[in-house]
Amino acid sequence: MNKYLQDLIKLSKFDTSISMFEPKIENEKAKLATFIETAEAIKTSINNIYLEVDEIKSKRTKNNIHLAELKSKLEDIAKKNKDIQTEKELKALQLEEEIAKEQIAFANEEINRLDTLASSKEEELKELQVNLTEEEESIKEIQVAVDTTIEEINKERNVVYQERSELLEKFDNKILTFYEKIKRWAKDSAVVPVKKQACYGCYMKINDKTYAEVIKSEEIINCPHCGRILYKEDETEEA
Ligand SMILES: [Zn+2]
Repeated sequence: MNKYLQDLIKLSKFDTSISMFEPKIENEKAKLATFIETAEAIKTSINNIYLEVDEIKSKRTKNNIHLAELKSKLEDIAKKNKDIQTEKELKALQLEEEIAKEQIAFANEEINRLDTLASSKEEELKELQVNLTEEEESIKEIQVAVDTTIEEINKERNVVYQERSELLEKFDNKILTFYEKIKRWAKDSAVVPVKKQACYGCYMKINDKTYAEVIKSEEIINCPHCGRILYKEDETEEA
């Protein structure tokens, strides 16, 4: 096989594997991101419930103040009772007392309702905190696994970079420029195998004459349709 073609195939394979490292790393990070998002959502819920509990507590305080006012009103009514002189005054005072008692009953009911609500919110908080702890433990575990995998990917990447730069040291400049020109639009498929007499970049069938030249591998052959560099893949390499 043409030496330049051999170098081009190697270089293209290095470049392809280099481009695949970043998505692999992103994929690892994405695994963690899902768990972090869930944990963040739980934190938001916890904060919202804290706000709701605060509101419930402030409503309860208002009701307590109101209750105290109503109780002192009842005491006033009891005092006034001694000074009553007419039937009309008695009826008015009785009505006032009735209303105050009704309001007290209502305030007590409201306080009970708020207490029940507050304790259900506390339960919800406890559950969410358990969930959050579990989620945070998972994050720690996954973080370790992800870090290890990323470290391995980076090691692999460094090896490929090293091999690539060694290859480039003895690379023909004109061939490199030629390759880079095609790579600009073809990205990682600048150098492609021919399979079933078709270019594996544009998937078009190539004519017999070009195909024969590709098989001979004496020269660098471009796909007549798309311009990518073609090579006949070794039987052993075919997957
Ligand atoms: Zn092609």
